[in-house]
Parts: sequence; structure tokens; C-alpha cells
Amino acid sequence: MGSSGSNDLEFKYVAETFAALERITSRTQLAVLLAKLFKRTPPAVMDKVVYLIQGRLLPDWKGAPELGVGEKLLIKAIAQAYKVSESRVERMFKSLGDLGLVAEKLADEARSKAARSPGLLAFMAGGGGGGLTVSRVYNDLLRVAYAQGEGSRDIKLKLVAGLLVDATPLEAKYIVRFIEGRLRLGVGDATVLDALALAFGGGAHSRPIIERAYNLRADLGYIARLVAERGVDYLRDIKPEVGIPLRPMLAERGKDPGEILRKVGGRAIAEYKYDGERAQIHKKGDRIIIYSRRLEDITRMYPDVVEMARAGIKAEEAIVEGEIVAIDPETGELRPFQVLMHRKRKHDIYKVMKEVPVAVYLFDAIYVDGEDLTRKPLPERRKALESIIVESEYWRLAKAIETSSPEELWKFFLQAIEEGAEGIMIKAVHRESYYTAGVRGWLWVKLKRDYKSEMTDTVDLVVVGAFYGKGKRGGKLSSLLMAAYDPDRDMFVTVCKVATGFTDEELDKMNEMLKKYIIPRRHPRVESRLEPDVWVEPALVAEILGAELTLSPMHTCCLGAVRPGVGISIRFPRFIRWRDDKRPEDATTTHELLEMYRRQLRRVEEAVPAEA
Ligand code: ATP
Repeated sequence: MGSSGSNDLEFKYVAETFAALERITSRTQLAVLLAKLFKRTPPAVMDKVVYLIQGRLLPDWKGAPELGVGEKLLIKAIAQAYKVSESRVERMFKSLGDLGLVAEKLADEARSKAARSPGLLAFMAGGGGGGLTVSRVYNDLLRVAYAQGEGSRDIKLKLVAGLLVDATPLEAKYIVRFIEGRLRLGVGDATVLDALALAFGGGAHSRPIIERAYNLRADLGYIARLVAERGVDYLRDIKPEVGIPLRPMLAERGKDPGEILRKVGGRAIAEYKYDGERAQIHKKGDRIIIYSRRLEDITRMYPDVVEMARAGIKAEEAIVEGEIVAIDPETGELRPFQVLMHRKRKHDIYKVMKEVPVAVYLFDAIYVDGEDLTRKPLPERRKALESIIVESEYWRLAKAIETSSPEELWKFFLQAIEEGAEGIMIKAVHRESYYTAGVRGWLWVKLKRDYKSEMTDTVDLVVVGAFYGKGKRGGKLSSLLMAAYDPDRDMFVTVCKVATGFTDEELDKMNEMLKKYIIPRRHPRVESRLEPDVWVEPALVAEILGAELTLSPMHTCCLGAVRPGVGISIRFPRFIRWRDDKRPEDATTTHELLEMYRRQLRRVEEAVPAEA
């Protein structure tokens, strides 16, 4: 049997944890189970274990290639590994509906056959299950992903079949599901952080330290390994590192300049809120990397921004933040977000660069030449930014004022709208106005343009279930159960059912998209009083606009927060568009919805005479 030295872990422990995770229904149990696995895991392979649990090989921003193993190839690999015909695998797939189960069954058959037949003992000794380690599984899968170009299909086939030959039935099931991208364990970043605190920090009290480290260096596998190797205390003084993205600082939303000013401490820096794509720009010597809001490496999409950054940052090493906005080449005026998206869809980057030129408006400095600025107040960061940025036509500091006057804020806001911005960002300037990576708080408040409808802003909600349509839409999933994110409990709570706003074409696309995420029962991180026709893993985020917010006994969002037993819901919700750039945890939160509801109430009260 293959041995696992002290620097490796037998893969069977991972597979057993996966099986246990699938069976449980409560979120706290998820973390406890994971913590158990983490404690058993040698630090050297902690990163690999965390990536495997999350169904990935590397963080997104490292841009690892896809595994590139389609269903056909996977069927071939299973057939080869267990010496059965492909048509048999296909038949079993049809009846079981899950290639993971097929592999498990066939691995089991192969084992009993081997046990009965002494001639095959050699096969058992060489593998037949039991010999896999985490490193072997992870490294082989990485090799599968990196096999590209001519002959890569055969290499992928050989590697996958090789893993399956050596896997136990349970291991085979999860290796196959991993390859298919169907692990569905319901383990989000927050659950892993909980588990790390339990395993290495002596409990929940150490979670903020681990979480902060993760916010500053957004690579969960790497952070997990660091805490396992060096302990929690080592993470206390961790700084951002050029090349590793930080999770972005986010804003709350406000309505009234006076109220917002009070919230941020009386005085503020206000900046235009440009309507484009957020860019976290890392510079090390001549090397520039641009990360998006969801921390994808978007450098290749913006060769023009790379040039501007190279010339426009006077520091050896720096991390700065700004917004990339499409502009009208004739007038230099700002253009809407949709125009920039047009640029992103095109493949010939150099051509589209001329058609849709962009400007960058910089608003923060996070790290400059060895100095961590995240713990400096905003005015100091802004000064640091001004001192290293060399402005040029399309490379500028975000337009800003500093003020403590609500009237001045209003004027600045109207001017921003007039000039094509989305509104303004109002930012605290007090002693503790730090850069709080990964946190949505009241240090930054956005004031956006108010539309005529009662519901002044769209919300971004997560699909957690779906219902079949009737009549023309019969047989198709045509309405969605949507949820908001409750960050305190790391749960998704339902807000509404959306059935309008889809064209027939969008509906077909949506049915295709949903297939991958349908699960047999309610996801453990979803709280719902409604029972949809199918449950959906929280993964897809959509922008929704409604007529108004109402109280509802059917939904679990902000349950009991306004009145006992009822939650907050959206009346007449309408689908606007998918927000592929948001993860489920980036959806509108319960706090935001409650705040929106209260604001709406105030508006209604203001309109109604006191004696009514
Ligand atoms: P929305 O859905 O309103 O775009 P969001 O959820 O993506 O918001 P928010 O925290 O609500 O993020 O708003 C901040 C976003 O506004 C940033 O992510 C950034 O892309 C953009 N932005 C534009 N101008 C500024 C600015 N001056 N300062 C900070 N962020 C800005």
C-alpha cells in the first residue's frame, strides 16, 4: 500500500470528509468536520486540501487553465481504468445520472473481482485503491490542466485513468465529480475560515485575525498553509504583497448627504463614483498586473492601462486602486458602463482599444515601496497616492473635494451626475478611516442617482431555487427563487420569486446555465419557507429591480427584524441582467435591504401628513 509520509495526507481522509459533508444539513457542522480534517493534514499540503475542497486547483486570479476533460473523455477514462466498454459506462451513466456514482460502482466491482482472482493480486498491490495521497491527486490534476495542445488529450486520459485505477471506490467518486466541476459541498470561504480558526486558532475568537490576513492576501489555500505552519500570531502583522490581490473595500449606500456626513463623522472626502470597472493595479518594477473587483487577472484586457500605469506610477513597488471607464475619444467625456462591457466582449484587444478608449481614475493607494497603507487614514493614503501618480490625459486622480457641508456635497453630487458619473462616494477621513479590505462598511458611503420608481436602486440577488413555467413556458424553469446574503450567519435568505424580465432567448440560456447547479435538496446555507420545484446551489447572481420593498410572511430575509414572523420581500421584481462579476457572497446583504426598507418607510412617512 502506498504510504503517506509526514508531509502528505492519504486522500482517503479527504474523500471521507467529502462524504460526511454531503450528508450534513447544518452550517456549523460543516466547519467542525473541516476542522477535523485540517488538524489531521500536514501543513505542507494544507493549501492543496483547501483548494480541493473548494473544487479548484488554484485561486482564480492565478489563472490556472481549465481541466479540459469533457464528459466523453471522462467516460473513456473510466472505461479504461476499470476495463469495461465505453457503452457500458454510458448506459450506467444514463441510469444513475452521475458519473461519480458510475466510477464508484465500477471501482467497487473491479475490487471484488480482483479479490476473487489470485492472478490479479498484483493489480491490488499496485493500487486498486488505497494508495492515493493528496499530493498525487492534486499534482496529477494540475498536470491534466496544464496538458495543452497536440497530444494533450491522450495525456489527460492517461492521467485521469491512472488516478482512477489507484483510487478506492469512494475516492473515485469524488475525483470524477471534481473533474466534472460537480463537487457541490456547500463550503464557502467563510466556512473554511471558521474551520481554520477552530483547527489552529483555538476557536472562533481567532477568526478575525485569519480573516484579515485572507482579506489582505486573497488566496485561501496559501493562508491556510501559513496558519498551519506558523500559527495565528504570525498572521497578525501580515501586509499586502505586490502580486497577490487584496479583497476590495466596499461601500454602504446612503440617501441623504446630511445623514451620510453624520455617519462618516461630520467631515468627508467625496469623490466621483465612476461607472466602469474597478481595477486594483499592482506594480513591481516594470511589471504591471490588474485585478478586477472579483480578483480576476484582467491585465490582458487592458494593454493601454498597463502602459499608463508603467509610466504613471512613481514607485518601485505599489498597489493602487482606481476605476477604468470608457470615454468618448472625440470629447473625452465619460461613457456608461455598457460601453466598457462592449470592449470586454471583443477578442481583438488592440483593435477595440482604439474603438473604445478608456481612462483610469485613481482613488486609493494601498501599498507603496514596502509600506502597508491599509492601516493609515484616508487623507494619508490620498497624499501617498498624489505623490506617486504622474497624471496624463487618461490617467488621473479621481475628482475629489473635502467638505463638512451637506449643501456642498449636494452640489458636487449634481455635478458628478451631470458629467456622466454614477453618483459620488463619500469617505470618512477620521483617524480610523483605514482601508478595510474585504469589508462593506460605513467608512465609504455611495450616493447614487435616484430613479423615479419607489425602489430607488436595483439589488443583486442569488438564485437558490427555481420553478417550472406553465403554458408556453411549460417544462421550462421559468421563475427563480432569489436570496440575499446574510453575512452574520453566512446564509442565503429568500427575498422574492422572479418571473418577469426574461426574453424567451434568455430563458433558454438560463435553463442551460441552471443545469450545472441543480441539487437534490435545499443547500445547507439556504434558509427558505418556500419549496421550489428544484433547488439550486447558490452561485448565480442577478440584478433585480422591483416596485417597492414589502413585508412578507413567505420570505426569510430579515425575518423578524421589522415585525415578528415576517421578512422583507420585493414587490413586482423584474430581472435586469446577470451579474457574472459577482460571487454569491457579493450579493446585496440583509443589512442593506433592511436599511433600504427603513429609508423607504421614512419617505412614505414624510409624504403622509402627521394626523393621517
Ligand atoms: P455597485 O453594484 O453599486 O456597482 P458594488 O457592489 O460593485 O456596487 P460598491 O461597494 O457598492 O460596489 O461600490 C463601490 C464601487 O464603485 C467600487 O467597487 C468601484 O468599482 C466603484 N467606484 C467608482 N468610483 C469610485 C471611487 N471614487 N471610490 C471607490 N469606488 C469607486
